Amino acid sequence: MAKVDDTQENLEICVKFCGPCPSKPQVFGEALFCARGKSSKEVEEKGCNCPGCDVFAKYGLADGYFCKNGAAE
Ligand code: SF4
Ligand code: SF4
Repeated sequence: MAKVDDTQENLEICVKFCGPCPSKPQVFGEALFCARGKSSKEVEEKGCNCPGCDVFAKYGLADGYFCKNGAAE
């Protein structure tokens, strides 16, 4: 597992997965939680799209729910 880079490329991938996620906290401007850390809002677990994400695969991430649990390390 590697630390995720906060890049425009990763952000663009992220919005395709976190964007439509039913658990996503509705805070404007928040995304790329695996790199930037958890949401400022409390997260209710209703499913997580992270395991299908290309960033997840590229960095060998595990678990998901980065919006709740914080950045991958
Ligand atoms: S980190 Fe996972 S649970 Fe949170 S919004 Fe993104 S896909 Fe959904
Ligand atoms: S692993 Fe999750 S938080 Fe990270 S870029 Fe993909 S969808 Fe976004």
